[in-house]
Amino acid sequence: MQQTPHSILKEYFGYDQFRVGQETLIRQILSGGDVLGIMPTGAGKSICYQVPALLMPGLTIVVSPLISLMQDQVAALRDAGIPAVCLHSNQDQTAYFAALDAVRRGDVRLLYAAPERLLTESFLSLTESVAITMVAVDEAHCLSQWGQDFRPSYLHITEFLAELPRRPVVAAFTATATQMVREDIKRLLALHEPQELVTGFDRKNLRWIVERPAKKYDALLQILKRNQNKNGIIYCISRRLTDEICSKLCADGIAAVRYHAGLSAEERASNQEAFLRDTVQIMVATNAFGMGIDKSNVSFVVHYNMPKSMEAYYQEAGRAGRDGMPAECTLLYSPQDIRTNTFLIENSEQENDRLTPEQRTILRRRDFDRLNTMVQYCSSTDCLRHFILRYFGEAAPTHCGNCGICLTESETLDATIPAQKILSCVYRVAQRGRQCGIRMLCDILQGKENKSLKEAGYQTLSTYGLLGDISRIQLEHMVNTLIARGYLRMDTSQYATLSLAGAANAVLRGQEQVMMSLPKRDLKQTQREQRLAEMPDYGVDEALFQKLRRLRERLAAREFVPAYIVFSDATLRDMCNKRPANEEEMLAISGVGKYKMEKYGEAFIQEIASYSTKS
Ligand code: ADP
Ligand code: ZN
Repeated sequence: MQQTPHSILKEYFGYDQFRVGQETLIRQILSGGDVLGIMPTGAGKSICYQVPALLMPGLTIVVSPLISLMQDQVAALRDAGIPAVCLHSNQDQTAYFAALDAVRRGDVRLLYAAPERLLTESFLSLTESVAITMVAVDEAHCLSQWGQDFRPSYLHITEFLAELPRRPVVAAFTATATQMVREDIKRLLALHEPQELVTGFDRKNLRWIVERPAKKYDALLQILKRNQNKNGIIYCISRRLTDEICSKLCADGIAAVRYHAGLSAEERASNQEAFLRDTVQIMVATNAFGMGIDKSNVSFVVHYNMPKSMEAYYQEAGRAGRDGMPAECTLLYSPQDIRTNTFLIENSEQENDRLTPEQRTILRRRDFDRLNTMVQYCSSTDCLRHFILRYFGEAAPTHCGNCGICLTESETLDATIPAQKILSCVYRVAQRGRQCGIRMLCDILQGKENKSLKEAGYQTLSTYGLLGDISRIQLEHMVNTLIARGYLRMDTSQYATLSLAGAANAVLRGQEQVMMSLPKRDLKQTQREQRLAEMPDYGVDEALFQKLRRLRERLAAREFVPAYIVFSDATLRDMCNKRPANEEEMLAISGVGKYKMEKYGEAFIQEIASYSTKS
């Protein structure tokens, strides 16, 4: 039978349908054209080059930045019956040359290589004996010094392509969408009229939440409670805090491991391993953890601090829910986070010495702009998904129904007059040559009588006590909304003080109406918590699911691969729902291909049968 993209998808990967964008890119590659795929984490970029690699003659080289990422991908491919190998510097000589030999013999379809390998003699000699049909560049933003993760070794790819006797198809993939990075990728890889495809950035299964808790650790415990028995990552801004939170959790009887660059290589490796293999469900880490972590069954990601940019946030939080199951992404925000980030920006050694002083200044300004966007996000009292998608240049409805705001705060009203009062209070304070933060501003407007307020003489302001009649929660919400919408600016360079921004004038002059959605006055904390905890019900028999998980763990241990490589959680859930009883039914499960059926199918069929007869 003639193989097609669809038959490959079904046979090897066990999926019935392509996701948005995948097929377009695959067809372009098969017709010999270059592609640039810009897709968010979890969208399914790998399939876009893996499927054509199996359909085209010759070898596909995949360039990937991280050894762990490569090893995972190769393990997953092999487990699906696809001959793949990797070449990197951590390999011993024997393994390295065995892999090279397999490639020379033509036994391999996909060769994963670290960029610094490409120009070595042994690698280049390979290109004389095998035809290279495609070079796929994963995490292609590493080429650009404007991106987050510039890697000079990625520039070897350009040179490598030039060395080849025949130019292969070049397929580049990234989750970073900014125009500058995109242009860099196209230029540096010299893509020939590439098909550019940006798939929607929306990840419908992710629930976005921002909390501004008085006590972050308590809020964290609450999140862990509503996500019991699920895998999650907790990102902290510093190594010290990572250690602290991890020990606290362990002391509170919650099994967690930690990860940051200050740990020994052994501890990092074994903690990562424990998390990937589902031995420990909670990972506490700095942002050093995660790039290249393909674990698909992460159900929640908590940011204990505000990250430095929306790009970083979306990438880190996006590690939740890769299997398409409902997942929660919560950011615990406090204005202190602004100070910490500011410090980090001001003290960041631009490790990149190719930059001129002017470029450095530009980069620093850009960093502060990005930080400001995060402050606006954290202050937002409008739909969070809308905010994110708009930031990435995508149109989106103003109500998504699946974010912290849409779920709990849906009273929309005309807030023009209180907004005017708030803005003029900021103005009056500025007239006295001073600035204040959110707390002081609300104290003034509510006519509080605390010591620092009196010392500053604010009780004589004309705006003192002007909003004494609305609740504190509502007032803080209004201030946050004004920040998020760009009427007020929160200073990111020092003390989180407020000043008027350009858009404020029109409101002060009565030329602009301000509509706001405010926290429902009658919603109690417990009700709020309940709404956040309710996830769409997939009606899965939990006992069976846990049984299948344990079986998966045993099989994974036998094969020396992480559990999710055997089958994803989504696949196990599909089994729970359909309870396949024979080979044919098993092959109809999403994520079960022919090869995996042969390898694991029978074990799962039996497990399901024994469970069904008992219950
Ligand atoms: P990315 O590299 O874009 O972050 P991956 O390639 O790791 O994403 O894919 C994320 C998950 O989606 C994987 O578990 C993958 O098996 C799954 N996936 C990819 N394509 C499909 C598809 N067409 N149908 C169902 N699942 C898919
Ligand atoms: Zn929403």
